[in-house]
Amino acid sequence: MMDQDKKLELLKWAREFRDAAVADGWKIEPAYTNEDVSSASHLTKNGFKMTVITRDHPAPFIRNQRVIQGTVNIWGPDGLAIDPPQKYSWDLIEKGLRKFSFCHGGDKETFRVGFADRACQDCLPKARKKLETPGWYN
Ligand SMILES: [Zn+2]
Repeated sequence: MMDQDKKLELLKWAREFRDAAVADGWKIEPAYTNEDVSSASHLTKNGFKMTVITRDHPAPFIRNQRVIQGTVNIWGPDGLAIDPPQKYSWDLIEKGLRKFSFCHGGDKETFRVGFADRACQDCLPKARKKLETPGWYN
């Protein structure tokens, strides 16, 4: 299990990432109707999508425990996932369209593999074998 310091660090990171995105012109709205935009938000810019979860509240039913979550998920206009850069950068997010999460390589055209992962042409057969197991439907 992740320790509390690590969780707080991720929470801070996700908040800063979200605020930088808003300052850079991303449109923000609540991710869920029953949760405040400050803890769960959907953002959009030029066809790119982002979901940011920044939760910090007492755990329901467990005394002296807190729920602490900080996550950032990004998808390109092609619907495939983009690894969030360490620090918010529109340039790096756009470049993420040509960066492949499966093989962690450089700048090449990417193709869908698995549910929403990217792989380059070279790694595609290997990636398919690994991620698209029998029973997989596209
Ligand atoms: Zn590759």
